[in-house]
Amino acid sequence: MSIEEQIILITGASGFVATQVVRLFLQRGYRVRGTVRSEQTAEKVRSIFPEYKEKLSFAIVQDIAQPGAFDEAVKGVQGIIHTASPFQFRVEDNERDLLQPAIRGTRSLLEATQHHAPQVKRVVLTSSFAAINHLRKGYWPEHTYTEADWNPDTYEEARTADGPTAYCASKTLAEKAAWEFVETEKPNFTLATICPPMIYGPVEQPVASMDRLNESAADVYRFMNGSLTEIPATGFPAWVDVRDVAEAHLRAYEAEQAAANERFFVVAGNFFYDEVCEVLRGVEGVDKAKVPVGKTQERPKVYGVSNEKVRSRLGMEFYSLEASIRDTAESLLKLEKKLKQ
Ligand code: NDP
Repeated sequence: MSIEEQIILITGASGFVATQVVRLFLQRGYRVRGTVRSEQTAEKVRSIFPEYKEKLSFAIVQDIAQPGAFDEAVKGVQGIIHTASPFQFRVEDNERDLLQPAIRGTRSLLEATQHHAPQVKRVVLTSSFAAINHLRKGYWPEHTYTEADWNPDTYEEARTADGPTAYCASKTLAEKAAWEFVETEKPNFTLATICPPMIYGPVEQPVASMDRLNESAADVYRFMNGSLTEIPATGFPAWVDVRDVAEAHLRAYEAEQAAANERFFVVAGNFFYDEVCEVLRGVEGVDKAKVPVGKTQERPKVYGVSNEKVRSRLGMEFYSLEASIRDTAESLLKLEKKLKQ
C-alpha cells in the first residue's frame, strides 16, 4: 500500500512527543488517526495542523487503562505508534496513576490490534531509557548503557516506590508486556520499541498553563522561571531532542523488514544541568538573572550511553544540546506570551 493510502494510529496525540510524531508522519504523506481523551482536545490538536485537515482524524480514547479502550480506534489502520502513557513524577497512587495505564494500555492496544486490525504489519512503541536504566546503580560510571540493558525493578517494588522509580518501572513493565505479547501470541505485526532518555526540544502541544507543562519541558522551564537558585544534580544525565525521537519512530516504522523486532536506544549523549543553564543564558528573551549559576568543575563521572545501533541501523543523526535547549527555551517564551494574552 502506498504511503498516501496508509492510516497510522498515533495514541496520545495531544502529548509533547506525539505532536512531533504526528507532524512528521503527516509531512511524509501518511494519513494520521490520533487518539485523544475528548473532542475538545481533538479540536486543539487539529488547530496545530491546519494544512493537514484532510489527512488528520481522531478517535476518542478517554482512558487507555480501561478494558477494550482501543477496540474501535484500531479498526482500518495500517500501522500503529503507541506514545500514550502517563509521564509524571508526582502521583497519588503508583498503581492507578502510572503502572496500570502504562501496562494495561500497552497490552490492550496489542490485543485490539490482533483481534480488530489483523491487517496491521508494524507497531512502534514509545518506551524509554527508564526501561534500560538501573536506578539503584546511580551514575555507574564504569558502565555504558545499550539496548541490552533492562531496568530490573518489579511491579511489587514499584507499587510503593517514589514517583521517578515507579514511572521507570511503569515503562519497563509496559515494554516487557509488549515483547511477551509478541513472543507468545505471534501476531501479524512486528514490534519496534523506541527508548529515549530526557527529551527536550520545541513544545508545540496544547498546554493549558505553564504549571501544566509536560515533565521534560518543565525540567528546562524551572531553570528559566526563577524557581531555582542553585543547580541540582542531573538526575538522568542523558538526553535527546524530540524531533530526533519523532524521526526515529518514523524510521523504525518504515524499517519493518530491516529491523523487524528490535529495541532502539535513541540517545544523543550525556549532559549536565549546568550546560543547560549555560545555553539558556545565551537565549534572547531569557531573563539571565533567573538562571542559576553552575559549578562546572564539580561534574561527577556518569554512565556512558551508546547510540551506535540507531546510527547504524536507522541512520540517525542528532541535534546538538545547544540547538535543542535554545529551541526549547524559545518555544517556552512563545507559550508564556500566548498564555498571558
Ligand atoms: P505527555 O504527558 O506530553 O504525553 C502523554 C500523552 O499520553 C498525553 O496525550 C496524555 O493525554 C496521554 N495519556 C496519558 N495517560 C493516559 C490515559 N490514562 N488515558 C488516555 N491518554 C493518556 O508526555 P510525553 O509526550 O513526554 O510522553 C510521551 C511518551 O514518551 C510516553 O510514553 C513517555 O513515557 C515517553 N517518554 C517521554 C520522555 C520525555 O522526556 N518526555 C522520555 C522517554 C520516554 P492527556 O494529556 O490528555 O492526559
